[in-house]
Amino acid sequence: MEYRRLGKSGLQLSALSLGSWLTFGHQISDQTADELMGIAYDAGVNFFDNAEGYAAGKSELVMGKIIKSKKWERESFVLSSKVFFGTENKGPNRMGLSRKHVIEGCNGALQRLQVDYLDLYFCHRPDKNTPIEETVWAMNTLLQQGKILYWGTSEWSASEIMEAISVAKQYHLIGPTMEQPQYNLLERNKMEKEYLLLFKEYGLGTTIWSPLASGLLSGKYTKAGTKDTRLELKGMEWLKDAVLNEEKLKKAEKLQGLADQLNVSLAKLSLAWCLKNPNVSTVILGASKTAQLKENLTTLEVLPLLTEQVMTDIEDIMQTKPHLPEF
Ligand code: NDP
Repeated sequence: MEYRRLGKSGLQLSALSLGSWLTFGHQISDQTADELMGIAYDAGVNFFDNAEGYAAGKSELVMGKIIKSKKWERESFVLSSKVFFGTENKGPNRMGLSRKHVIEGCNGALQRLQVDYLDLYFCHRPDKNTPIEETVWAMNTLLQQGKILYWGTSEWSASEIMEAISVAKQYHLIGPTMEQPQYNLLERNKMEKEYLLLFKEYGLGTTIWSPLASGLLSGKYTKAGTKDTRLELKGMEWLKDAVLNEEKLKKAEKLQGLADQLNVSLAKLSLAWCLKNPNVSTVILGASKTAQLKENLTTLEVLPLLTEQVMTDIEDIMQTKPHLPEF
């Protein structure tokens, strides 16, 4: 396993990490979740990603039980949660980024995960109804209480992150260390354009999500007989519509041709492509089956295949590179 700095911070994350969205506490059994964490940890994965909103808090409960039963040394892994969506929709103040919900959300996550502190704590989305000062101060309070070690954002715009950095500077508080954006061969704008200044000037770290665009970039949706996937889960109709898009499927099919020529699985080619970006601190993997995770965890082996020519061939197929202004 390779370890990368989380931006300019002193923390090191495994280049491949494991997340629990849709799977833990929902799509897969607790037994499978246990096996996935064991396989990841044994392969050198040190970062496990979670959120209060995943399976309405159940994802954290399942992960907490597993961590406890494994008896791993606390120093050997990095654990995250995210605040914003709440665990259940029971009325006001149970979601968002108010001081009340940030503090109560963190206490809830610590209880469900059965740990004394979270290594990373993310604002899962921006909250237009809470002054940014309130959220930055609340995060700083949690840092001072030792309940979290680093805080960050997820799917914030560059200007929102900049504002949080400025507020933190103004009051001598600790600002955001990392952002968690979507990044894959189809979704590149934030990582390759919008955040460039934040990487260069502020050393922002990134823990990127949906590296396979929910499985599309494994190539399985261009093959007949694909079933038992997240797209069939109740309530995931919106994701199914987004993934099974004609243009995206055509690109995935062409990319499969390139992967076949290279004699590598498309999943590994797509994951390795994410790792080629030096601004990626860690690629968060998702898996509903142990075989998927075992395959994805061997991605580092295929990195040397991504030569300049192969990267150009990928660009020619995808046509998704963001346009950067010329100076
Ligand atoms: P991916 O895009 O990699 O999708 C993972 C899913 O693709 C798996 O659960 C599985 O789904 C399928 N899959 C994975 N590997 C293979 C393979 N080798 N062959 C075939 N199918 C495969 O990542 P996720 O969307 O799961 O995101 C990863 C993590 O990022 C999440 O767990 C979460 O921690 C985080 N995240 C954060 C968000 C945020 O807003 N901050 C939003 C979303 C995710 P199946 O078997 O069901 O087809």
